[in-house]
Order: sequence, then structure tokens, then C-alpha cells
Amino acid sequence: MVAICIQCGVEKTTLYEKCRKCAFEPRKTQENLIKSVYLSSARFDSEVDKKEYELELRSYAERIRKRLPIAFDPVEVERLRIQHAETDGFNEKSTVRYLFKVFLPGLILLLELICVVIALNQL
Ligand SMILES: [Zn+2]
Repeated sequence: MVAICIQCGVEKTTLYEKCRKCAFEPRKTQENLIKSVYLSSARFDSEVDKKEYELELRSYAERIRKRLPIAFDPVEVERLRIQHAETDGFNEKSTVRYLFKVFLPGLILLLELICVVIALNQL
């Protein structure tokens, strides 16, 4: 993963780590955290997007080092904020979703069988 310190532009290997150069702490505020996610390859799910974004990230890093402002896309910031808010209940939700995915086909099959049995009994 590539992550950029949003304060000094140094490249980090993990998103949440404290910057070794300027001691910036991404987890201190939600705003900092969201901008830190924004400026990391963790923003994307697919490996292809991540690879592409890494190049973009390096240009962001360059801008930060030159003290130039970064134009954070407000729509994307909002998406990351919602995603972040959801992570609190994430584990529970994904477990339910997983169970649903695993058992739903079997449940449908069972219902179909019951329907067939009922239909046959009415003949
Ligand atoms: Zn830094």
C-alpha cells in the first residue's frame, strides 16, 4: 500500500501509522483520517485502481511537499466519511451478509421442494 502523509507529503507504508518525519497522527481526528484514506491506495478496492492511483498519489505528495493545496473531491470525501461511519458495525453486517449468501440458495431450493410436494399432494 502507498499512503501519503497529508501534512508533509512523506510516503508511508501503512495508512494509520504516525508520520516518522513530521509526527503527524492520522487517527487524531476524523477529518485527518478521512483525508489520509483519501491520500492512500486503500481508497480503492481493485489492484488495478490501486496501481493507477499510486502514480497520482506521488504527484499529490509532490504538491504537499511544495506546500501547494490539494483539491479534495467533496463527493469522494463524503463517500469515505460514510464508509468510515459504517465500519463501526461492519463486522456484524458482513457476517449477516455472508450467512445470507451461503444459506439463501439452499433456502430457495427447500422452498421450491416444499411447493412441489404441496402441488403433488393436491393432484
Ligand atoms: Zn508527515
